[in-house]
This record gives sequence, structure tokens and C-alpha cells, in this order.
Amino acid sequence: MKKHVLFLLAAAAFTFSACGSHENTTETSSADKILLKDFSPVVVNNIPVTKVERAKFDIIDMHAHDYASNLEEIEQWTKVMDQVGVLNTAVMHCSWIGRPFEEYVEAYAPFKDRFRFWCCFDYTDMSEEGIQKACETLERYHEMGAIGVGELGDKGEGDTYARPGDGKGIHIDDPRIKPLIEKAGELKMPISIHIAEPYWMYLPMDETNDGLVNAVTWHVDTTNCLGYNQLVQTFENAIRDNPNTIFIACHYLNMSHDWPRLGALLDKYPNMYVDIAARVAESAHTPRATREFLIKYQDRVLFGTDNGMEASMYQTIFRVLESNDEHFYAPELGYHWALSGFNLPDEVLKKIYHDNAERILTEYK
Ligand SMILES: [Zn+2]
Repeated sequence: MKKHVLFLLAAAAFTFSACGSHENTTETSSADKILLKDFSPVVVNNIPVTKVERAKFDIIDMHAHDYASNLEEIEQWTKVMDQVGVLNTAVMHCSWIGRPFEEYVEAYAPFKDRFRFWCCFDYTDMSEEGIQKACETLERYHEMGAIGVGELGDKGEGDTYARPGDGKGIHIDDPRIKPLIEKAGELKMPISIHIAEPYWMYLPMDETNDGLVNAVTWHVDTTNCLGYNQLVQTFENAIRDNPNTIFIACHYLNMSHDWPRLGALLDKYPNMYVDIAARVAESAHTPRATREFLIKYQDRVLFGTDNGMEASMYQTIFRVLESNDEHFYAPELGYHWALSGFNLPDEVLKKIYHDNAERILTEYK
């Protein structure tokens, strides 16, 4: 359920007269009129502003989708990848909601060294026989070049990214799909899965909601589906019960508000990784805590974007990971928070940008 929230800025109201300033107590104070959604401050500080044109180390992007609609767009994407330093990109694709896997492989074939194919589980028939067929389909896609499974997604009502037929409503710990998860492990295909949404989306849409502007758009109504902790539990059940399959929790498992809890899961389950895709804003407003987490779990974090094909998109992420800049805004990410860079050490950056993905995708095989 979405609510339209008119949240007025709570900051004290000041206005400036011809000379000097004084507290504004008039009823026409702009602070009583500006809506939070319209708040678009301009930084006035004289502080470093770093433009990171190209990543410091080669990148393997582990989280993107089938954004390009024709060959020209795919080629243009590779040019941007060259410009910003991306070696190759995981294009995650679910045939069941887009074009068939075969077509997508063919579409990207002229640039196949620059893209890696991912596929989804086939949930069209959840009978024992149907799941057996889905295992065979997975094997066939693997032979055609699929190196991973994903992006699967469960925001409470079961897998919504690969949802057809009987599979609608399947959670990742459902015993019926265990053969598929085991098959992925056997084929050395990591499973990338989006679980839940950022924590703010579950909280009341009122003046106390820290992520309000974004949470209004993405608010989750849990009336008829699993809530945040229940979803995290389904994920934990799956990684615990399938130790031979690697799981990549997309978007930091949507747990960037609680690094100790996320760290405890990584400590407990060596088959678990996280990607940083589309969670720059959610982590760059707490730069010191995030930096500490990324350094501590530097072998378990994967680079991902999940946000289109523009150079500026990559460069915003590089600025956050590489620079020591403070207090800058990236309103295109949907939040009203100011962000700060992590200034990650080179050896950590290199692992997150490249080495961890390379290890999973090659040594794991
Ligand atoms: Zn995604």
C-alpha cells in the first residue's frame, strides 16, 4: 500500500533580510512549505570533489540485466564498459518474463566475451517430474553458456522474477526446489538472489522514517506475504541446507542498515557472498561503518551495478568506493541523504572489483 506523504522540513526556519539574519517566525516561512520530496540542496562547502572517470582496477560486474534492446545498444554498452574499465558484465535474465534464453544468448553473441549469461529456474511445473525437467533445462542452459542462476527475487510473496505457473509463491527454502539448488551447485553455477527490500520500506511512512522519500515509492505491504525477518530466514535456511551451492545475496541482502547482523551470516556460512548492486545510497550515508564492513569482509563482496548502461552511473559508484569525498548528493539514487566516499584501500578495491568474482567464476569450477 502506497501512501502519499507530505513531509515538511523540520529544520529551523531562517530567512535573510537586507543585512544580517534573524529567526523567521512569519507564517510564510519557506520551511513550512517545502516538501521533502522537493528538497534538492546544493553543497556549498569548499571540499574536494573527485571525478573518477575510470575505475582504478579492472571490473567484473556481477549484476546487470538485459538492458540493451538491439545490437547497436549492446555495442554502445561495450564502449561505455571500455571507457569506465569494465571487463565483462553478468547479464541476468529470466526467460519466463522476457525473451527466451536462446534468443538472448544469440542477441549478445557478437560480444560474447564481454557478457556473461545467467538464467533463472523454470518454475512452470512444480510436480516432481516438472522439477526434474527444470533440472534438465538448467543443464541445457549451462551448456549454452549460462554460468549462474539469477536474479531470483523474493520480496515476500515468493519468487517474482521467475514466477510463471505453479512456481508463483515459491520461497528459496521450499523443499520442492531443493533438487534445482543442488543441480546448480553440481554445475558450479552460483545463485544470485534478491531477498526483501531495504529496511525503511517496511517501517511506517511517517516523519520518523529515515529513508522516507525512497520508502514511499517502494513501501512494502506485508499483509499477505512474508515480512523482512521471515524472508531473511528463508535465505538462511537455503544457504544452511545447501552448503555445496554458492549464494550471492544481491544488494547486501538488503541489510546495509545492520552490518553486524550481515557479518554474522557471512561468518557462519562460507557459501554466502553479497553484491553491492544498487545500494550505493543505502551504504554511503554511513561511510565509516560501511568501510569497516567492506574491509573486514573484503573476500566476500562482489561488485554489481543493476542500474543501466550510462557512464555516469558507473562513475557515481566509483566515487563512493574510491574517493574520500564528503557530503555530496546523488538524487538520482532516490534518497535525500548526503553521501560520502569510502576511500577503500587498493587491495580491497581490487578484490571487490575483480578478484572475488574471478575466483567464484573460475576456481569454483
Ligand atoms: Zn537486479
